[in-house]
Amino acid sequence: MAGRIRREDVDAVRERSRIEEVVGEHVTLRPAGVGSMKGLCPFHDERTPSFHVRPQVGFFHCFGCGEGGDVFTFLQKIDHLTFTEAVERLATKTGIQLRYEDGDGPRRDQDPNRRQRLLDAHRVAEEFYSEQLNAPHAAPGRRFLAERGFDQAAAEQFGVGFAPQGWDALTRHLRGRGFTDAELVTSGLLSAGSGRGPYDRFRGRLVWPIRDITGATVGFGARKLLEEDQGPKYLNTPETPIYRKSQVLYGVDLAKRDIARRKQVVVVEGYTDVMACHLSGVPTAVATCGTAFGTDHIKIVRRLLVDDDAYSGEVVFTFDGDEAGQKAALRAFEQDQRFVAQTFVAVEPHGLDPCDLRQTKGPDAVQALVASRQPLFEFAIRTTLARFDLDTAEGRVAGLRAAAPVVAAIRDPALRPEDSRQLAGWLGMDVEDVRSAVARAGRAQPARNPQPARNPQSPRDHAVVHGPGGTQPSGAPAAQQAPAPIPRPNPRDPVARTERQVLEVVLQVPHLVPTEEICRVDSATFTAPAYRAVYDAIVGAGGPPTGPDPGWAERVRANAPSPIAGLVTELAVAPIPANDVARYARDIVLGLRELQIGRAQANLHSRLQRANPDEQAALLSQLMSLEQQRRALREE
Ligand SMILES: [Zn+2]
Repeated sequence: MAGRIRREDVDAVRERSRIEEVVGEHVTLRPAGVGSMKGLCPFHDERTPSFHVRPQVGFFHCFGCGEGGDVFTFLQKIDHLTFTEAVERLATKTGIQLRYEDGDGPRRDQDPNRRQRLLDAHRVAEEFYSEQLNAPHAAPGRRFLAERGFDQAAAEQFGVGFAPQGWDALTRHLRGRGFTDAELVTSGLLSAGSGRGPYDRFRGRLVWPIRDITGATVGFGARKLLEEDQGPKYLNTPETPIYRKSQVLYGVDLAKRDIARRKQVVVVEGYTDVMACHLSGVPTAVATCGTAFGTDHIKIVRRLLVDDDAYSGEVVFTFDGDEAGQKAALRAFEQDQRFVAQTFVAVEPHGLDPCDLRQTKGPDAVQALVASRQPLFEFAIRTTLARFDLDTAEGRVAGLRAAAPVVAAIRDPALRPEDSRQLAGWLGMDVEDVRSAVARAGRAQPARNPQPARNPQSPRDHAVVHGPGGTQPSGAPAAQQAPAPIPRPNPRDPVARTERQVLEVVLQVPHLVPTEEICRVDSATFTAPAYRAVYDAIVGAGGPPTGPDPGWAERVRANAPSPIAGLVTELAVAPIPANDVARYARDIVLGLRELQIGRAQANLHSRLQRANPDEQAALLSQLMSLEQQRRALREE
């Protein structure tokens, strides 16, 4: 978690970033009506454009799949960034210096410039290493790659380089580029020497740049090549302000798009395995760097796989079948239960890793290995049962006793009955016996909170309004809140349509809306609950501004409860079906006022029927005043 960026800075970055330019890097936009642009949605497959951007409002919205939000939301979704990362990226682009709130978080005492300096040092080091790979002294490195079937193009694709022998080749190069020894030691590129001063951390090794999800190099992994090297086979960057091994996944920058698209991530064990997978048509492969796959890695992967608050997609662990690998896979049970149903294991029966496999049997074999995945549950049970002789009654009973806790550990109650049935099948035992054994094992374990069932939903399939999720600068992730769905208004209802059109103009062109009339509208004027909630957010944001105000729609969205925020972007981006927008805005608002007055008049008429003569006079005068208001609406 990063420190929180100051609100004013976030607003300044949003204002200075042009959403049509940021979106335009990914989507070709064409003008579509007044103040609007459209293109093919990058978030769902479509042939006719339903993805709209409204630069003045600062929002995008897809009328096909329902994705929408501001420029930060767009970057978060398209590049799988956190809110903070999206703001930081645009701040760099627009030249705004961010300030962070005091509070918990690693950035509290960190100069934002320092991070940039460390990233710069890594960029320079990466160039240096990759040039060195072509030098004569790098022959052992080139040989290592060639022996594993990686040519020069592959080395370049993954930025593989060579760290020269000796002690100070990189040190001198980086000093020459203006970096201080203190910065370079902090970056982890140099080791702090005692007597002689700092020296190159990686020497005589092949190096792989380790990049964060945005593609910035934050560290290196280095493979031993030479006999005389006394160090470990693999050496990685130590923990630094920009490199935390529990939070980096090698290859994630290259794989993220395919992971999101294919809804699958393949976890392999080494740098060469990631390369082999990508070159074999498995572009979703990533690896941890010198550590086991842990909770932080799950978070990163989940961010890539999460769709509309629902967990979807597969996580496939490939292991060469050894016990360490099995343990790593089984650990997923303890990590995050929501993960279990999606976790698969692919074991190569001959103990070959993807790199060996590609070389000995070709790229198809690597794809076949991934395709042969089995559910983690099945793998865990089979691994447990393999220790017992299931041909004997005693063996089966012992096997059940060992396997029941594994099934009981599955916290998702929806999965458990199916799993008991499967276990009974493997053991050749009665399902009820297995179920009661699992239930006993479950009671023996500490109580755990059952996970609520999650329904994958998409706005297209369900007539509810969804929250946008993950766009707030702080607070709980959207996945933890379960906002109540609000029924989507019926598009054929003419009253609801008028209400919708009013909200569209108030959000998009507030300065063109007749102020006096909109002030007479109140929350109760809106019959559709979703539109009433949007109107409440408009009032909460201070009511429509009288002049052009670029931050207006965003303030409304910030004021809206999360199930409504998506509707705010939709309304703020919806095309206005008129060339004379000022006239249209006026007509639409007057139309709603007429409805409102008509309803009040009908109400008074019915009260008049029941009223005594004293009350009648007052009601009649109210009726007349309403009638005057109604007539005044259409007098220019
Ligand atoms: Zn879409």
